[in-house]
Amino acid sequence: MLVVQKYGGSSVADAERIRRVARRVNDVRAEGHRVVVVVSAMGDTTDDLINLVEGITDSPPEREMDVILSTGEQVSIALLAMAIKELKAPVISLTGAQVGILTDNAHTKARILNVNTARLQKELDEGNIVIVAGFQGINERNDITTLGRGGSDTTAVALAAALKADLCEIYTDVDGVYTTDPRIVSEARKLDVVSYDEMLELANLGAVVLHPRSVELAMQYGMPLHVRSSFNLNLGTIVREVDSMERSLVVTGVAYDLNVAKIGLYDVFDKPGIAYKLFKSLADEKINVDMIIQSATRDERNDISFTCSRSDLKKALSVVQDLLPEIGASGVTSKDSVAKVSIVGAGMVSNPGVAAMMFEALAEEGINLEMISTSEIKTSCVIEAAEAEKAVHTLHNKFNLANEKSL
Ligand code: ADP
Ligand code: ASP
Ligand code: MG
Repeated sequence: MLVVQKYGGSSVADAERIRRVARRVNDVRAEGHRVVVVVSAMGDTTDDLINLVEGITDSPPEREMDVILSTGEQVSIALLAMAIKELKAPVISLTGAQVGILTDNAHTKARILNVNTARLQKELDEGNIVIVAGFQGINERNDITTLGRGGSDTTAVALAAALKADLCEIYTDVDGVYTTDPRIVSEARKLDVVSYDEMLELANLGAVVLHPRSVELAMQYGMPLHVRSSFNLNLGTIVREVDSMERSLVVTGVAYDLNVAKIGLYDVFDKPGIAYKLFKSLADEKINVDMIIQSATRDERNDISFTCSRSDLKKALSVVQDLLPEIGASGVTSKDSVAKVSIVGAGMVSNPGVAAMMFEALAEEGINLEMISTSEIKTSCVIEAAEAEKAVHTLHNKFNLANEKSL
C-alpha cells in the first residue's frame, strides 16, 4: 500500500512529539507499506514568523512573505527525517520546490497546478520514507509560494491524488471532524463519516480542521480522507462521497468564522454596470468577496453591502474609496468586529423551516442578524463578533447536534 500521512503543527510542536510521529511513521513502513509524510511548521511557528514581519512592515511584499513563511515547514521536515533516521529507517526530506509542486503566482494564497511525481517515485522506489514540507510550492519562475493558512492539508491531498495513494490520513490535535469546533462546544460529537460537499462547506465557513482546497481536491479525485488524532489510535472521521440514501441528518454541523469584515456603500447609482465595476475592481486586487446584499431601490439609488476577510479590509476600503465618484456613493461604512456563523447540512434543501429555526434560536438569545445568506446546504448569518461563541452554542443546542439522532 502507498500511504500519505499529514501531521499538523501541534503534532510536531516539540522534540518529543516529533519522535512520536517518527515512531508512528516507521511502524507503517515496518508493516511493508510505502509512506509519504507531509508536515506543517512546529507549533505556532507560522504565527511567530508573521510577528517577525510585523516588526518590520505593515505591508510586506507578498513574494518575500512566502520566502519567510515557507521556512517553518523546512525546519520540521529536517527534524522529522533525523528522528526517523534515529530509528534506523531509510528516509529523505524534500521541500515543495524539490518535489516540484507547481502553483500559480498568487503569493500567500497560491493554488497547486501540478505535482511532479518523478522525484517522489524515485525516492519511494529506493525504499525511502519521503518527508515533504507542507504549505509550499514554486511558481513558473521558480519563486517560492505558499498555499494559505492551513495549506499543508492541501499538499497532502495533492500528493495523494498525484501518486494515486491507497490511503490519505490527516493527523491533527482532535479526534476527527466534529459537529462543531470541540474547543468551543465540549458536547460536540465526532462524526464517523462526512460527505465531501458538507465538509467543503464547513471548511469554507470556518472549520479550520481541513483546508477548504484540500477538500475540493479530495472530492475532485475521489480520494477519501481519514481525519484523526496523532495523540491516540482512535479511528477518526472519513470524508468521502455519501449518497442521499445514507444521509440522515438535516443539519450536520455548525461553523463560525471570525476573519470577516463588512463594508457598506450608500446611495450608489441604480444603473447597469455599477456592481460590475465595484466587484471587478475588488477581484482585480485578489480580494475575495463573500456575501453581497443590494437593497431595494429608492430615488434611483441603492445601498450595497458586502463582506470580505478581515485581513483584506484595508485593501478593500482603498479600492472602494477610489471608486466613489464613479459609482456615485454618498458614503462608506466598515466594521471589522463581525463574525459569520453558519449551519451546514445536505438535508436542509428538502426541509423548509430550518433557516427559520436558526433565526429563532439566535433571536431568543437577543443576537442581531446583520446579514444573511443561504444556499442549498447552508445558512449563514453575520453577527457581532463578541456573540459568535454564544451563537455557536445556541445553534448546536437548537439542532440537538450532541445526539446521534438529531433533527
Ligand atoms: P493542524 O495543525 O493539525 O492542521 P488545525 O488547528 O489546523 O490543526 O485544525 C484542528 C483544529 O480545528 C482543532 O483543534 C479544532 O479546534 C478546530 N476545529 C474547528 N472546527 C472543527 C470541527 N468541526 N471539527 C474538529 N475540529 C474543528
Ligand atoms: N504552517 C501553516 C499554517 O500555520 C500551514 C499549515 O499548518 O497547514 O498555516
Ligand atoms: Mg490545519
